[in-house]
Amino acid sequence: MTHACPYTVTVRAYVLGALCEREGTEFRRHAEVCPSCERGIAELTLAVRLLEKLQTETHAANGHAP
Ligand SMILES: [Zn+2]
Repeated sequence: MTHACPYTVTVRAYVLGALCEREGTEFRRHAEVCPSCERGIAELTLAVRLLEKLQTETHAANGHAP
């Protein structure tokens, strides 16, 4: 498995919610049979959640600022 998956760029767009409904469905179907994309989604989703958590906590920490 050395071939590059043509969907690698799509993974990022999918996780960030940048795909339209039809593209998202098409990509999900692909990810079911593509371990590389499946893993990419899992890793990126985790990264995005961590970032959101961090931003929320930072925001809360700055809550006393005027
Ligand atoms: Zn793929």
